[in-house]
Formats: sequence, C-alpha cells, structure tokens
Amino acid sequence: MCVFCQIINKQVPAHIVYEDDKVISFLDIEPIREGHVLIVPKLHVDSLDKLPDDMIAGVMRVAKKVVVAHREIYGNEGYSMMQNGGKYCDFGHAHFHVFPRYDSDGFGFNYPEGESEYSEKVAAKIIEKL
Ligand code: ZN
Repeated sequence: MCVFCQIINKQVPAHIVYEDDKVISFLDIEPIREGHVLIVPKLHVDSLDKLPDDMIAGVMRVAKKVVVAHREIYGNEGYSMMQNGGKYCDFGHAHFHVFPRYDSDGFGFNYPEGESEYSEKVAAKIIEKL
C-alpha cells in the first residue's frame, strides 16, 4: 500500500488540513514554502484521466478552499497548483500540489524562443484532441 493510501487509512501520520469522503489534504513533508499542501483523491490511480469526474470535482472544491485560506493567512499575491501524472507521479497515487506564490519567489517556467509561433502550434495540437 502506498504512503498516501496509508495516510488515508490513518496508518501513517500527516498534518491533515481537510478530509471528506472523496478527498484528503495534508501538508507536503518537503514544502516549496510554508502553506504547501497536497490534495489527494481517495483512489489509488496514477493519473488524472483515471479519476472519476466527481473525485476531480472534489479535488477542485478543496483547492478553492485552500486558495482562499492561503490568501487570508499569508496575503499571497497568487498561487500555483501542480500535478504530475503517470511515470512522474510519486508513489503512483495522484495528488495535487497547491502553494502560495509571491512576486519575489523566483518560481517560474522556461519558455522557448519564438514564443508566438511555438504557442500556435502547441494550441492547435491540443485543440485537435480536446
Ligand atoms: Zn495510494
């Protein structure tokens, strides 16, 4: 059983901040910064597309609550939410990172040269599949 399933089953301790019948949320043990939480659906799958829609909706409802709580606690300027899937999903159990963001935090994405042309091609490929 993976460590997230063990946390769900209360076999491993965690700093749980929220729990309902579909979702649990607790502090990341290696936080990017204070307030970094994981939102974990209570189903052991490694990818977003393997989750039932109601569980995805549950994750997003909790994410909304966390975003509001972060803003009230830290007064942060924004937030980031991330999920790694498939081979890159730690423990093979889907989880969503949510953490506060600030102008000075240095967190960012690298984008290639020729951004406009690049984005057109990327958007077209994704639109075709959606
Ligand atoms: Zn699991």
